[in-house]
Amino acid sequence: MDLKKIVFILSICSMTYSYAGNVKTDPNPFLSDFKTLYNAPSFDKIKIEHYEPAFLEGIRQQNAQIKAIVSNKAKPTFQNTIVAYDNSGEILRRVGGVFFNLTEAETNDALTALSIKMAPVLSEHSDNISLNKALFKRIKTVYSQRKSLKLTREQERLLELIYKDFVRSGAALDDKKQARLREINKELATLEIDFGNHVLNETNAYQLVISDKKDLAGLPDWLVKSAAEDAKAAGKEGKWIFTLHNASRLPFLQYADNRALREQIYNAYINRANKGDKNDNKAILAKVITLRLEKANLLGFDTYSNFVLDKNMAKSSAKVMDFLNNLWKYSNENARKEAAELQKLMDKEGKGEKLARWDWWYYSEKLRQEKYNLNEDELKPYFKLDNVREGAFAVANKLYGITLTEVKNVPVYHPDVKVFDVKDSKGKHLGLFYVDYFPRAGKRGGAWMNNYKDQHGESRPIICNVASFTKPTGDVPSLLTLDEVQTLFHEFGHALHGLLTKCNYVGVSGTNVTRDFVELPSQIMEHWATEPEVLKMYAKNYKTGEVMPDTLIQKLNKQMLFNQGFMTTELLAAAILDMEFHNLKDAKNLDVVDFEKKVMDKYGLIPEIAPRYRATYFNHIIGGYASGYYSYLWANVLDSDAFEAFKENGIFDKKTADAFRTNVLEKGGSEDPMVLYKRFRGAEPKLEPMLKNRGLQ
Ligand SMILES: [Zn+2]
Repeated sequence: MDLKKIVFILSICSMTYSYAGNVKTDPNPFLSDFKTLYNAPSFDKIKIEHYEPAFLEGIRQQNAQIKAIVSNKAKPTFQNTIVAYDNSGEILRRVGGVFFNLTEAETNDALTALSIKMAPVLSEHSDNISLNKALFKRIKTVYSQRKSLKLTREQERLLELIYKDFVRSGAALDDKKQARLREINKELATLEIDFGNHVLNETNAYQLVISDKKDLAGLPDWLVKSAAEDAKAAGKEGKWIFTLHNASRLPFLQYADNRALREQIYNAYINRANKGDKNDNKAILAKVITLRLEKANLLGFDTYSNFVLDKNMAKSSAKVMDFLNNLWKYSNENARKEAAELQKLMDKEGKGEKLARWDWWYYSEKLRQEKYNLNEDELKPYFKLDNVREGAFAVANKLYGITLTEVKNVPVYHPDVKVFDVKDSKGKHLGLFYVDYFPRAGKRGGAWMNNYKDQHGESRPIICNVASFTKPTGDVPSLLTLDEVQTLFHEFGHALHGLLTKCNYVGVSGTNVTRDFVELPSQIMEHWATEPEVLKMYAKNYKTGEVMPDTLIQKLNKQMLFNQGFMTTELLAAAILDMEFHNLKDAKNLDVVDFEKKVMDKYGLIPEIAPRYRATYFNHIIGGYASGYYSYLWANVLDSDAFEAFKENGIFDKKTADAFRTNVLEKGGSEDPMVLYKRFRGAEPKLEPMLKNRGLQ
């Protein structure tokens, strides 16, 4: 459920690349506007051979732009330095916007190889800009005069962020330290790509192939059908294939009566990239942690987490650790109670078995049925993907007056992708929104929002949501689980943040906010997904069209606190693991798996639960959430408190929605997040609503 950002920082280097040697008849589509509706990427024209020359030309263009800034004879001003810098690198943004989306959503061997090849080149280019002394000098000059420049709040914020970014990137270091920083950044860029590729390889490599029908006992029909189709596609007709993707593994763990097979698929999942083979990530992660610590030290911080948090809402590692430790007391205790309840259920079966990690989903599903008379599978017919998506769109329409209409005359990179034209209440174009919802071999796991194009001034954004939801099978459409419904609303919340933004500068628009604020717009949308009034808008039986009955809506809402001890503990354990790795002041001889165990023992994590992500496949902390995984819980305080305002005034109250839109969604990172929040809510967020929502009081 993360949000990935592609940040391009570019530079004036003297690197020269020659690619003009080969004669090409096709013009490279990245080198000019796309000449499509709203300048949408021309996926129909883009070919693999276009990327590298476009990257190199983009680097050349940005180098020239930076050179023009630093060689300007005029005194440095906000306009000729800060704005010129913010606008530079147009080609790189265009090609990167497509390339880094596709390496995640629709990759192949050629694209992967190219991303490995380009990583050090782009990292070097980025360093060439942030370590450019002449550029930094001009930025520093403008920064030192900021109080007398009569800047708007947005301009002042942009200036502060850019200045700080340069300092944090090493602009103020001496030559020797800068040289070392370059080496570190280059090495990190490659290690991080290797890490992600290993996780993808490991996820795709595993299949649980079932040949005996008996082993399917307990599984719902839709899952069996989907597994049969996967087997057929893999040339194993008559068998059933289950994979490590959430949409296959999680329902298998939830419903499969065969305990040995549950254990097998569970262990395959949690041992990814930890088998000592070519996909092993232990040494890579240890190296990453070591290099990050060295980088933090070079930049004057005692730990990598303090380096990261210095620019976040939380400000310091100590503040985050206090927050996590406080929650841990409540959640671990609840998880312990839940484990005891599950054990009781197992004891009743009289097999003498002890609750293990691979049993949790299975017995909690049984307990849910016993306690709330609700089988999660009963909900699925009401959660047809198209209906859920329309529901999310309808919520946005009621709150903000926007409409989303499908357009067919925009090129797509895969037939599963749909594109929507987003308009405000007066019919003015706000942006394009792409959705790509089904799993494929070339797509990494999880769900995310991303930009193809940032908003600034009159230039409107292009945003996407990518996920791997339950696929349609035969004549049954895609029917989502409750968790998938919440994920769809969540990612759509990020999309709204990207689409409704009204800023003047790329550097602060849309989701360019601090990591611990960015989950507020997404997580608040999850609250609407299960409100009875909203369920009645979209939860309609896919066969009969019947609206979800009140009894089912009540049952669904009653069980919202169910299993929250487990969910919170799993998330907290991963957040703590992330922080502890990056709190290290000495990372020599780090054995990441052993370290994970020691940390979890120290906190007393119960053996029936593993961290939501274990060290060797913790993609978040490699891909931009290092010392940032706590953000989900941190922002949960914000979204719970913010949704209270809607609860107090009515969940579709116009005034509250307007206040949220104008103070949060439109503002991007153009002001300090706490200032924005307080302007919306009138006060700092309180912890209580979050504790209440998670049943942790
Ligand atoms: Zn998110």
